[in-house]
Amino acid sequence: MANSAPNRYQPGVIETRRQAAWRERDAFRTPPLAASSPEGEGDEQTHLYIKPSAPFTSGNVHIGHVRSYSIGDAYARFRRARGDAVLFAFGFDAFGLPAELGAIAGGVSPSDWVARCAAHMTGQLQRLGFSFDWERSFMSSDAVMYRWSQWLFLVLYEAGLIYRGIGNVDWCDTCQTTLASIQVEAGGTCWRCHGPVRLIQLPQWYLRISAYLEENDHRLGERAQSGIWDEVALASQEIVLGRVDGVELELRDAEGTPLTVFTPHAGALTQARFVLMSARHPDADLWAAEPAVREQLEQLRSGGWERSSREAETIPVIDTGCVLHGVGGEALPVFISPLVDSRFGVTVVLGIPGEDRTDEVIAQRMGLEPPSQEPAPEGVVGENGGAGDRGSSAPYAAGMGARPAVRYKAFDWVISRQRSWGTPIPIVYCERCGTVPVAAAQLPVALPLDIKPTGTGNPLAELEEFVQTSCPGCGSPARRETDTLDCHFDALWLWVPACVPAQAREDSLEEIFALADLRYWLPCERVVAGSDSGNFVFDQRTVTKALRDIGPLSFLADGEPFAGCLFHEMVTAEGRKMSKHLGNVVDPDELVERYGADTVRLAVLFAARPQKSLNWSDSAVLRCHRFLTQVWDYTHAMIALQADAQDQVEAGEQHAGADGDRQPVRDTTEHLRLKLSQWCEAGVSRITTDMEELEMHSAVRNVMRLFDRIKDFEKRVRAREDELRGANLSALVDALAVLAQTLGPLTPHIAEELWIDLGNDERAAQTPWPGVSLEVVA
Ligand SMILES: [Zn+2]
Ligand SMILES: [Zn+2]
Repeated sequence: MANSAPNRYQPGVIETRRQAAWRERDAFRTPPLAASSPEGEGDEQTHLYIKPSAPFTSGNVHIGHVRSYSIGDAYARFRRARGDAVLFAFGFDAFGLPAELGAIAGGVSPSDWVARCAAHMTGQLQRLGFSFDWERSFMSSDAVMYRWSQWLFLVLYEAGLIYRGIGNVDWCDTCQTTLASIQVEAGGTCWRCHGPVRLIQLPQWYLRISAYLEENDHRLGERAQSGIWDEVALASQEIVLGRVDGVELELRDAEGTPLTVFTPHAGALTQARFVLMSARHPDADLWAAEPAVREQLEQLRSGGWERSSREAETIPVIDTGCVLHGVGGEALPVFISPLVDSRFGVTVVLGIPGEDRTDEVIAQRMGLEPPSQEPAPEGVVGENGGAGDRGSSAPYAAGMGARPAVRYKAFDWVISRQRSWGTPIPIVYCERCGTVPVAAAQLPVALPLDIKPTGTGNPLAELEEFVQTSCPGCGSPARRETDTLDCHFDALWLWVPACVPAQAREDSLEEIFALADLRYWLPCERVVAGSDSGNFVFDQRTVTKALRDIGPLSFLADGEPFAGCLFHEMVTAEGRKMSKHLGNVVDPDELVERYGADTVRLAVLFAARPQKSLNWSDSAVLRCHRFLTQVWDYTHAMIALQADAQDQVEAGEQHAGADGDRQPVRDTTEHLRLKLSQWCEAGVSRITTDMEELEMHSAVRNVMRLFDRIKDFEKRVRAREDELRGANLSALVDALAVLAQTLGPLTPHIAEELWIDLGNDERAAQTPWPGVSLEVVA
């Protein structure tokens, strides 16, 4: 075939043309709610909400985004191709430290910075051809959005799920701000600047997630059974929850004061050597009553402790001087240490050096005698069974007055930050009335947009026209809360607004939750997000249960916002995280420019299973580009052959009289056509299953295999016949149409272009899935 311009694979040209066509026919607009009759009939179209992650307005789309959205987009397009009504939209998570620091670096106001970033990132995502409903996209930093964060704050505050506490918070000296525990890296450093983090004491606002830990735990079992939560997502929820099974029992001191202690080692109660209490435990002050001990505790809480010294060898341990009686009457000194929190949550645990390496270290540090070789617990309990394993130790523990118990590492988290680029907290401090919530009707409490943060302190607190206000209760002069909400708080509900048409979001607060849209689209059928989204999803699951109980989301009986969840792993380079610092960043723009969006999308899907981290290599890109070029060239060669054959048939008909008595050639290839149709059928069936299960890497392989089968068919036909024509040529072209259809969700531009070149309607909504006929949009 001649390498003529119109038939050469030119991704840039094709992709521009397709994207223009999509805009023209408004291809990704969220379908209207189907009218259903009072009997519930008439709503026959399956409808689903697929939620991509909400990106930070960080400045650029990176290859990790491309991976994430390529998976979600392929799934969204697959469901549309099957005739389902799909909602696929997102908003930018535009508040918070990344934007603030970007603004500082760029010397602009944060609002300018996020607007610029969002525009640039939207352009990048559109160039990649992702099928988001852009009409529904939003910025969390727009007043029409953040007033909803304020509304949520008020609702949760009223329900007692947000509270003000003097708390120990992680503080970064460099960033001059408090950090959520999830913003503290494993080594005890700041997630943002990687500097040291200290624990200090500050008045803070907390979200009481502890109220829903148990329900989140047992609902997780239901998620696992649903089969549409993948293993990475489930594991992330277990990690955040941090469930520890064990027993608890009451121990008493000499005066009879009781303290409930926990241990995961139910079979080793008599081997306990000490008791370890969290510094955040409500009874900590009671047991640290001695002035010298109290002073140590205060010092621990107010900043004497580097977050990096977390290990048992260096972490602070305070001896309270108090002693409890153990189950065998032995004396157990009571120590206080933050070591408890990260292992068992805010609680009190038994220190059992014989069972636990960390406890052994603490015992040594505190100068306790090594455990004596006393009789093993089986001797104590006789026929009740041995110690150690949970199953048989239960009767033993019960004999000691212990009962089964569970602890969770997850705990209430700080939602306030001492920074200016965030949702203002709708609270006013009045000298007469105290802490007063702003009335819902007065929302939003507007964030001044002309603030230019410098990177230290909180400029909002220095802005008198913001701070000075009047009390909503008594009208006397009052001061506004100048802490803002952490963007993790905004994220609690940022999966909701996509369900609502942009216009409706402008309307009054209560009405939005009364809209039929929420009942129609929720729960979200699938979240597709990075494996680092575990905390977001956990907290979103928590707040959904709160809003169910409070009322607005009462229609979600199990309090679960997401029916399904797929977490994909990160993109790495040579096994390392990509970073500017390491100089190993892959630039998606460059790749798209060079190979086209379809190739880049196909490569990230092909290179690894979503649950595996994707170790970047250019070979996947090269292979996928070669594949798409071959499909393009081959399909067009066959289209040309068919056109030639058509011409010959027409010419032949004109001369029909001359050789009308020619005998038909015996067909020796019928079994090959049968084989081809079986290959197609089996291939489509496999690819369909792959797409349903979001196993895109497998789908890509099966599409490639199908193409090989098609070429194989041609080879076998040519081995028997001198040319490819008639029924064989038609069968081959039909198979190529099926190939284009299966490529539709994966590489939408080239697929749609081939589909049209194969003689299908330009106006078709998109390539339909094989066997499905979609309505043509007039
Ligand atoms: Zn920092
Ligand atoms: Zn007042």
